[in-house]
Amino acid sequence: QRRILIAGNWKMNGSLKANSELIDGLKKAELGASSPEVLVCVPTAYLAQANDLLKSTKIELGAQDVSAHQAGAYTGEVSSTMLSDFACQYVIVGHSERRAYHHESNELVAQKALQSLRANIFPIVCVGETLEQREAGKTSDVVVSQLRAVMDVLDDGALARIVVAYEPVWAIGTGKTATPDMAQEVHAVLRATLAERSEFAAARVRILYGGSMKPENAKDLLSMPDIDGGLIGGASLKASDFLAIVAAA
Ligand code: 13P
Repeated sequence: QRRILIAGNWKMNGSLKANSELIDGLKKAELGASSPEVLVCVPTAYLAQANDLLKSTKIELGAQDVSAHQAGAYTGEVSSTMLSDFACQYVIVGHSERRAYHHESNELVAQKALQSLRANIFPIVCVGETLEQREAGKTSDVVVSQLRAVMDVLDDGALARIVVAYEPVWAIGTGKTATPDMAQEVHAVLRATLAERSEFAAARVRILYGGSMKPENAKDLLSMPDIDGGLIGGASLKASDFLAIVAAA
């Protein structure tokens, strides 16, 4: 049985003041053993603040990106061991915004996933097709090759420790959501791809949906058999919306 994971991706939003208000709001959540796992992925600059504020809560902390390198002359980059100094349990790798604006290749994303696992941080590997690719009937090809690049660098044990997030690019920040059936179809393809390598990993790895998930559509998406949680952008910036999604899970 896979535990539902509801993860907020704050992206490049926030301030010391806004973060502290948002986290205050999130602390109202009553999280028990049967609740979903709740995670916020904050900007690197605020990891120390968020780590402090979340200490007495059940809410977990994650980052939005990590270097593919271990240490050294990589100006501006942040290593996975630095993230673990701030109690990061998860890190997003290969978000479509990084693939698009920072030209991250499948191979680079795979190295980032490997590097985070070396520091015992679970990578949330994002995959997803553009509208053009969907309309050309290439959705499965695109997401499978994005996932396979990561599978290629991990052994079976490591593979079982990743999280995958299916985020159709056309649904991110647009208000357009994949229907539960559309999302389920892709999630099933992703799980079958994992199963080609390891049935154990396929049964264990959580596959999140991301792309305009909000309180109104969360329940239907999360009720699909292969949707194991959500990666939430816009709606994670408002405590009441984010908690409503947690409650819908
Ligand atoms: P939105 O929820 O704002 O569409 O963003 C989704 C996303 O990119 C999460 O990583």
